[in-house]
Amino acid sequence: MEGGYSQDILKESEKNHKPRQYRYKKLFEEHSSIMLIVDPQNGSIIDANKKAIRFYGYTKDKLCKKSIYDLNISNKKEIKSKMKLVEYKNESEFEFKHRISNGKVKDVKVQSVTIDFNNKNYLYSVISDITEQKKDKNRIRLLAKALENNTEGVIITDNDSRIKWINQAFTDITGYNLEEIEDKKPKIFQSGKHDKSFYRNMWSTLLDKGKWSGEVWNKNKKDELYPENLRIYSIKDDEDNITHFTAIISDISSKKQREKEMRNLIYRDTLTGLYNRFFMKNRLDSQIMISKERGKKLAILYMDIDNFKRINDNLGHSVGDEVIKEFGRRLKQHLDKENIIARIGGDEFIVLIPDILNREEVIRTAIKIKKMLKNLFSIGKNELAISCSIGICIYPKDGQDTETLIKNADIAMYEAKRSNTNKIKFYKECLQIYVKENFLIDKNLKKAIEKEEICLKYQPIIDLQSNKIVGVESLARWNNPNIGKVSPMKFIPIAEENNQIISIGKWILTEACYKLKSWHEKGFNYLTIAVNVSIKQLEKRNFYRFVLKILNEVKLDPKYFILEITETMYISQKISVINNLKKLKDNGIKIAIDDFGTGYSSLSKLKDLEIDILKIDKSFIENVKKDKSKKEIVLAILAMASSLNFKVIGEGIETQAQCEFLYDNKCGYGQGYLFSRPKGADEIEKMLEYNLK
Ligand code: C2E
Ligand code: MG
Ligand code: MG
Repeated sequence: MEGGYSQDILKESEKNHKPRQYRYKKLFEEHSSIMLIVDPQNGSIIDANKKAIRFYGYTKDKLCKKSIYDLNISNKKEIKSKMKLVEYKNESEFEFKHRISNGKVKDVKVQSVTIDFNNKNYLYSVISDITEQKKDKNRIRLLAKALENNTEGVIITDNDSRIKWINQAFTDITGYNLEEIEDKKPKIFQSGKHDKSFYRNMWSTLLDKGKWSGEVWNKNKKDELYPENLRIYSIKDDEDNITHFTAIISDISSKKQREKEMRNLIYRDTLTGLYNRFFMKNRLDSQIMISKERGKKLAILYMDIDNFKRINDNLGHSVGDEVIKEFGRRLKQHLDKENIIARIGGDEFIVLIPDILNREEVIRTAIKIKKMLKNLFSIGKNELAISCSIGICIYPKDGQDTETLIKNADIAMYEAKRSNTNKIKFYKECLQIYVKENFLIDKNLKKAIEKEEICLKYQPIIDLQSNKIVGVESLARWNNPNIGKVSPMKFIPIAEENNQIISIGKWILTEACYKLKSWHEKGFNYLTIAVNVSIKQLEKRNFYRFVLKILNEVKLDPKYFILEITETMYISQKISVINNLKKLKDNGIKIAIDDFGTGYSSLSKLKDLEIDILKIDKSFIENVKKDKSKKEIVLAILAMASSLNFKVIGEGIETQAQCEFLYDNKCGYGQGYLFSRPKGADEIEKMLEYNLK
């Protein structure tokens, strides 16, 4: 048997308690831990077990000839003092660095107890190799050092996914300190938003490729869910074994928030917070597809606040904005959740009702909208009674695609606006032709001036005696790319209805004056211009001022300017109309009564009228040869006019016979296709040049 001091100790004990000692000896020798028996006096190794021999790499003899100081690379003083602590203070656990036979240094943890034998103390030490653990810690420390100040959150786990280290940014994002989560698994952050397969995929990619990245919803310390951008890497040792995982996270709540804000900008109306036209169109597209697949119907309610323009004009835009906001708020509050509400522009809203069963269901929603308006809108100091018109259109009956459905609902709304009763109208095919045309005119007219779609043609007025052009009448023309050429007979009444005649009329007047001025400057300075005006223009209190301002601006003598008005306008009792006409006349502007004979004024009244020109309506001229009564009316007008000293113009002269009849009966002037159709300015100019010869 190999020697060593322990032999004596054991021999001594064998004498007394042989079986027990034998058992202890065996236990010592075969123990799975590295064990040494040390004399604390001089540090000499008394005995070493099999595991110790294997660990240190010396034979038992050699090992038992060494002292503990030989093994340790720390200084002797430190070791001594630690052994003292074991002996007297019962502290039992220390870390040392031991050099083994091949020269390598191992980190060891030494746990010792003092055993008293024959009045002498021995240290019974169990040694654990902690080299790898130490390396681990060092590696983490190194990694941590590099990642400490990372602005992204960093977490390091061991290969069993137990959290070992986190940086400050991680604490900032999640609210957790290292102490709270050390050795726990990152499972504690799971939000429940991802299913098992999500994590399965994550792990298989991570183990397979060494990294994984993606967006993950996690939970912070306050149990709040937040989205993060997660990148995980596995860290391997030299033998390609995974030793750690590092995860880098960045909180993307703010990015998500920005994305949400962006979406809001694209899809939401900023004033009301409701969806906007763009969203509604997209939604309708997809809802139509769904309805088609399932064989269901859907309804669109197109709404427009009544007289909104008046609110805006009279109370200001901020009140107008508040009305729109309140209207939107009430819609949201009173309508079902399934209904999709959008403000599609100005004071126009659309409600989309998916999956409707019948008409009644839609009517119920429309009535809800009417009812929600029953209470006055209090806006600032104003208490406003607000109503709206609703046009309804049903898929698939009234349209198969988004464009058509919105357009037809709009047409139905237009019709609802015109009706004075309940202001709810379903789109009906039969309405289409008439309403559609008016609707399109109404809609497109709004931008007609801005888009320069309106222009003027001029029709010459001829002195029947000399056969020369003495003046022109300006006639408005409108050519729209969507609806083509529209006659003034159609668009002027609509412009009057929607008040656009004011701006259109201003443009026409200005244009006509400038054109006449340019002709005067070219030498045709005898020429007059007649401009048609609408009653709506004459009703504007300051209309005369506007006319005078333009004439002044253009430097045009008012005597060359003629306003064409109809009989009904002339006999209007409205103060503003009377005043405008008086002021215009006082300033030398001439007044012509257009389409004379079609109105209600009797011939006897003519003498009371302070007018300059009478234009006999073309319906009389047309039939002057065939219809006796018409002929007599024309003769009476001409006789009266001549005695009252009015100039008379025969309108719509198409034949030589008509012309001769008028001339023979002392009608001074004529206008009609016989002489010229209404022409563009350039063509008129050519005619004027010829006129001079
Ligand atoms: P109006 O003022 O009585 O104009 C005469 C209309 O008769 C013009 O139609 C002209 O083209 C047409 N006409 C002229 N000679 C003949 C002819 O020999 N035979 C036939 N069958 N027709 C002839 P237009 O241009 O379609 O204008 C229609 C009406 O629209 C005008 O009647 C006028 O009341 C209104 N209008 C036209 N331009 C304006 C405008 O600038 N402002 C306003 N407020 N109304 C306008
Ligand atoms: Mg006219
Ligand atoms: Mg006329």
